[in-house]
Amino acid sequence: MKPEKRHFDVLIIGAGGAGLNAAVQLAGSGMKVAVVSKVFPTRSHTVAAQGGVNAALGNVESDHWHWHMYDTVKGSDWLGDQDAIEFMCREAIPTVYELEHKGVPFSRLENGRIYQRPFGGQSRHFGKEQAARTCAAADRTGHAILHTLYQQSLKARSHFFSEYFAIDLLQDAEGAVTGALVMEIASGRPLLLYARATLLATGGCGQVFRTTSNAHINTGDGLAMVLRAGFPLQDMEFFQFHPTGVAGRGMLITEGARGEGGYLINSEGERFMERYAPHAKDLASRDVVARAIVTEIKEGRGCGPEKDHVLLKVDHLGEKVVAERLPGIRETSKIFLGIDPAFEPIPVYPTAHYLMGGIPTDRFGRVVVPARHGPEEAVPGLYAAGECACVSVHGANRLGGNSLLDILVFGRLSGLEILAYLRENPHARVTDSASEERAMARFQRFDRGGDGISVAELRAEFRKVMEEHAGVFRTEEIMAEGVEKVKAIRERLDEVRLRDTSRVFNTARVEAFELENLIGTGMSMILSALARRESRGAHSRPDYPERDDRNWLRHTLYFREGDRLDYKPVRTRPLTVESIPPKERVY
Ligand SMILES: Cc1cc2nc3c(=O)[nH]c(=O)nc-3n(C[C@H](O)[C@H](O)[C@H](O)COP(=O)(O)OP(=O)(O)OC[C@H]3O[C@@H](n4cnc5c(N)ncnc54)[C@H](O)[C@@H]3O)c2cc1C
Repeated sequence: MKPEKRHFDVLIIGAGGAGLNAAVQLAGSGMKVAVVSKVFPTRSHTVAAQGGVNAALGNVESDHWHWHMYDTVKGSDWLGDQDAIEFMCREAIPTVYELEHKGVPFSRLENGRIYQRPFGGQSRHFGKEQAARTCAAADRTGHAILHTLYQQSLKARSHFFSEYFAIDLLQDAEGAVTGALVMEIASGRPLLLYARATLLATGGCGQVFRTTSNAHINTGDGLAMVLRAGFPLQDMEFFQFHPTGVAGRGMLITEGARGEGGYLINSEGERFMERYAPHAKDLASRDVVARAIVTEIKEGRGCGPEKDHVLLKVDHLGEKVVAERLPGIRETSKIFLGIDPAFEPIPVYPTAHYLMGGIPTDRFGRVVVPARHGPEEAVPGLYAAGECACVSVHGANRLGGNSLLDILVFGRLSGLEILAYLRENPHARVTDSASEERAMARFQRFDRGGDGISVAELRAEFRKVMEEHAGVFRTEEIMAEGVEKVKAIRERLDEVRLRDTSRVFNTARVEAFELENLIGTGMSMILSALARRESRGAHSRPDYPERDDRNWLRHTLYFREGDRLDYKPVRTRPLTVESIPPKERVY
């Protein structure tokens, strides 16, 4: 099948908050912008964000970006880069106002200012008391933001390729990125999209795990594309398990539920978080709360006939607060559990939620890789923003409300940076024909009939292995076994068959591509995790329970070729303020 060819100035892969905020910045610049999304843009996972976005507006109580920065560095367990964190926390304030002016219907205080709720790991005066920093549109903040940004990018006349699946990046002879091969899902038609700059904004990869809060589409496609193009992924061992997923199912119950005054209890009716985080209690950082829940259950204080979950109480808040501030989780609980949280507690268990690692970028969205000579260099023509990128502002653990912030701030900045790059580089690079051939070969990779393994079968097996071998607590033994299992699964990809290829749906083809991407991403996670012999943030090893700053205050880089690992230092120097030195992380 001969692919059609189209030329653009900018190709944005991903129409979530990060991709669309970049597209909006390019509006009015006269640049031809293509936005590709495998689902209709407003179905991107950003739509599911519930609790809100952090900015030190100080609408409820006085606040300061420097306190926000302190919380983020501490939350990251000192693995975040402090220059990028300072930048994000300062930019948070104008970013939220810009969104409001673009039309996001934030919840309001009595005085008309934007409503802000307390979230985990937030403080005032550098850790002294709880802050209320999360700007919310009820518990449907992502929905409000994504719809606003989509309307703005329609106004900006971005060219949308909706329900097109990106398969692989295209490159010139030097490895610079020149576009991507995509498939129109409805027709199965391949299409070569050439661009002077390509932005990956493909979101997270929660589908790597069996129980997850993430949408079916979060399969790490952009991450795997970067690996196949020969570039590394950073800090992939750091994956966040959100403490409160619907038990046994994984859908998210926002931290906002605890922010509004909800709390967790075990089978003895005890508010157990008081023992694990005497100060912050239920609003300790997510990794701390997730570990506490798993420990309570392991020690026999789980609830229900199987003693396999704990309970989240919001019923004491009264029906009015639940209806006004938490309507979305009320609906989720009613639909999936048949429980009304205004009157009954919700059974919860940690759920795979958020990737802190990702494609290594600087704070301008440029993808940076180790150089042959010197420390690092940017890959010409390649940018990344949003959950697929690792700037790194979240380090070893992300704070709630900081991801919507990350996608907005760095989505915006990468849009502006691309504009500057295009002005300096007016000529398109020539795509290497070998790169096109490789991409086309991959397009046809699963087009073979006969007997073999089905996609669904291998996918289920893989996600179970990841859950069992790279979950909340990880030891050498468990992970080493996991690595062998994932390697064996990776080899079996060659046996995957789409059965009768003349009659197969293109969505089945998409699922096969996604499976390969999931496995590539999962491999990077478990190998990076096995190598890191310490406990830091979300990476918790009972066999190495301490954080080890002397040996491990550094970022991991994983390369697909030879499953190789490399490391680079954490940037501990902020832009204008003093560095926040590592200390014990207690809440
Ligand atoms: C249930 C839930 C609740 C959350 N709540 C909050 C919250 O309250 N506050 C907060 O800060 N964070 C929250 N988060 C995290 C936050 O929402 C996400 O990290 C963020 O929205 C990711 O945005 P993004 O733009 O990077 O990617 P996404 O919004 O996931 O968008 C990814 C885009 O890439 C496209 N794409 C991917 N692969 C391909 C491909 N191969 N071809 C073509 N297109 C592709 C998709 O179609 C989509 O358009 C939550 C996450 C979840 C799952």
